Amino acid sequence: MSLDSHIEKVLWTQDQILDRVAQIASQITHDFQAAPDPPLIVGVATGAFLFLADLVRGIQLPISVDLVRAQSYGSGTLSNGAPTISFDLKFDVKGKHVILVEDIVDTGCTLSSLIAHLESKGASAVSVCAFLDKPARRKVHIKLVGDGKFYKGFECPDYFVVGYGMDFAELYRNLPYVGVLKPEHYK
Ligand code: 5GP
Ligand code: MG
Repeated sequence: MSLDSHIEKVLWTQDQILDRVAQIASQITHDFQAAPDPPLIVGVATGAFLFLADLVRGIQLPISVDLVRAQSYGSGTLSNGAPTISFDLKFDVKGKHVILVEDIVDTGCTLSSLIAHLESKGASAVSVCAFLDKPARRKVHIKLVGDGKFYKGFECPDYFVVGYGMDFAELYRNLPYVGVLKPEHYK
């Protein structure tokens, strides 16, 4: 059975995604062009890995890239609300403008924990760059640090989506588009 046959509906095609990601990368390039230092780009593993890869290749600045890991979802589709954060940051963020790159903001719990952590480590500004924003399920307000900005790719309807880095039970991350699974595959 082919991978595509597991998908009930496609929300964003590969072309739509790549166009939008290029626009965000240009926006970031523009916003930091005159800054004294380029931002530190920090991807949230694992879900942001494809977005991160496409985004950084479009940013025309001498940036550094790092990764952190935050886990709030087991193998299901419901957040447990208390993400565990294990920081693999190689870089000292003190005095830096960090752009956190996330696949999707749902309740906002994961990002809020990460932002608080970066702030406590002395980041002078924290921006968020989320591929998808699902405002319908927000529980905590995302408070940025310093002159941080919120960049987002698309607003996501209230579905559990897969693809472009996002999984269900650790599957489907490799889909080049974003879609919704057929009900029989959500188990
Ligand atoms: P939050 O802490 O904002 O509730 O959840 C953030 C994380 O939950 C995201 O980084 C992502 O890993 C996961 N998540 C939230 N919504 C979805 C979704 O629709 N599909 C998938 N695959 N993951 C999601
Ligand atoms: Mg994530």
